[in-house]
Amino acid sequence: MNKKVCILYTGGTIGMVPTEDGYAPKKGYFRSLLDDISQLRHEDMPTWDLVEFDPLLDSSDISVDEWNVIGSAIAARYDKYDGFVILHGTDTMAYTASALSFMLEGLGKPVVMTGSQIPMCEVRSDGRDNIINSMMIASQGVANEVSIYFAGKLIRGNRATKTSADDLIAFTSPSYPPLASVGIDIKYSRRGLQLPEQPANFNFRAFKRVPIAVLKLFPGMRFDLLEPIIAEKIRGVILEAFGSGNIPSQDPALVNSIRRASESGTLIAVCSQCYQGTARIGTYAASSKLRDFGAVSCLDMTTEAAVAKLYYLFSQDMEPDTMKRAMETNLRGEISI
Ligand code: ASP
Repeated sequence: MNKKVCILYTGGTIGMVPTEDGYAPKKGYFRSLLDDISQLRHEDMPTWDLVEFDPLLDSSDISVDEWNVIGSAIAARYDKYDGFVILHGTDTMAYTASALSFMLEGLGKPVVMTGSQIPMCEVRSDGRDNIINSMMIASQGVANEVSIYFAGKLIRGNRATKTSADDLIAFTSPSYPPLASVGIDIKYSRRGLQLPEQPANFNFRAFKRVPIAVLKLFPGMRFDLLEPIIAEKIRGVILEAFGSGNIPSQDPALVNSIRRASESGTLIAVCSQCYQGTARIGTYAASSKLRDFGAVSCLDMTTEAAVAKLYYLFSQDMEPDTMKRAMETNLRGEISI
């Protein structure tokens, strides 16, 4: 039987047109772009429906509320389709992919995110290839998780990061191999597709807009100025630390801020600033104080995945200790253990 794919168009470069202010999405225009791609009517392709979001957004404007809208749009159509393709701007695609990977519990169908670096109204657009291959992958039912397809590679959504604003290969998966390589054939990696045990039933979990922060350390940072915000207003901090999770431990200001934040119930999760590798508190003496104050290691999670996971866990109203354990547990393939 012919497979059915639902295309959710949220905005992004792929459907943008030039305006006086630069590229911007245009309501109702994308349908005509899809109608111009004859391959989308080929008998080897799944049948498809298009859902255009309103408003269409540059992905810089996509945040927790929009993630909830995208997640609930999938949940409302879950039984009707074999897979989903989400067209989305590239700038925050890795955040949305990470968020959906947690929101869509027990997902048993492909949700493939894609977009383009060059709009489809331009001759050299990479959008057509990205859409056609994403539709194929979404219909095949092999990668039954949230993924990103871009420029010949299918990567796990919560492992992706945007690494180029210019290249057609916009995304990489620094600490996890691709789920599939797309050349003459679509070659899936059975090993890469393994996931930890998932909830048995599909369930959409909306996120709450909990106050969290990402703090990137740099030499000379004035921690004393940040302390009141961290300790009083923020419920979770992702500390982008040096190397394998190290902090300036000789400066009492940061260590004291972290201690006070922890005491007032703020969760501190430590990521690495490195493009690739593992943040593990206690590997060096320069990070061991973090452990004394109850911080957790993000291991090889991307910052994007750590942000999404914090929202997810805070939205479940968990006990602090359960939440800390969950942060260091591989829930959706976001951590290598
Ligand atoms: N600014 C655009 C967006 O993220 C960039 C893109 O789609 O490539 O919506």
